Amino acid sequence: MNLLLLQSEDFIDSRRVRVGGRRLTHLREVLRPAPGDALRAGLLDGPLGTATLLHLGAEGAEFAVQLDSPPPPPSPVSLVLALPRPKVLRRALRAATLLGTKEIHLIHSWRVDKSYWQTPLLAPQRLREELLLALELARDTMLPRVLSHRRFKPFIEDELDAIAGTRQRLIAHPGVGGDLASARGQPLILALGPEGGFIPYEVECFGQRGFTPVSLGERILSVEVAVAMALGVLALA
Ligand code: SAH
Repeated sequence: MNLLLLQSEDFIDSRRVRVGGRRLTHLREVLRPAPGDALRAGLLDGPLGTATLLHLGAEGAEFAVQLDSPPPPPSPVSLVLALPRPKVLRRALRAATLLGTKEIHLIHSWRVDKSYWQTPLLAPQRLREELLLALELARDTMLPRVLSHRRFKPFIEDELDAIAGTRQRLIAHPGVGGDLASARGQPLILALGPEGGFIPYEVECFGQRGFTPVSLGERILSVEVAVAMALGVLALA
């Protein structure tokens, strides 16, 4: 926990918060601050700053907070990600959040096992917890939006164009395509395939919607590494 991430319900008045639950356990067992110690804090979807410990007890921790600086700028890259296995999804969401992505569209595709959509990780509360953990690690406050599109064709035909808007459209596909680095710095939407890859028909569908192929190098990467590498390459100035 590199950031004490606060939510509006933590505030007991305009400058004081009381936190409990998981954050309290972490404070008591790991960080062990003393009264007067200042921790980095941030308001969910709001500014960053400091929280100065007033009192730490078994029932809660109270802080005086000053939140006055902006969170890190969001990544201009949004992802369209074919749903991987739950374990890999968790890592991919974490990597994407750590690298500042704020919009993730999870889609179905031919090589996505239908059972993956049943994962408890996609339950709204559970998903939110995962994203909050990653924000705390990243020292960011802006919660990514994760949207599920469980049918490939309707997504491609009815939604994708409006979602992508005027942003540059790219699809990562092994073995073909241009250099990702040349797309740096501009708003873009990047599609990544499932663990088995996109089938040719799907690559074609994206192509018809203006998505141009990009390569991430000669080696085939796992989904979570492909996510991290693509966002990393695009993040470097
Ligand atoms: N078995 C698949 C690989 C899937 S890897 C195949 O051989 O095609 C999962 C996804 O990560 C791919 O669909 C692609 O979007 C991305 N990816 C992995 N390695 C890549 C590379 N070298 N270049 C471009 N995209 C890559």
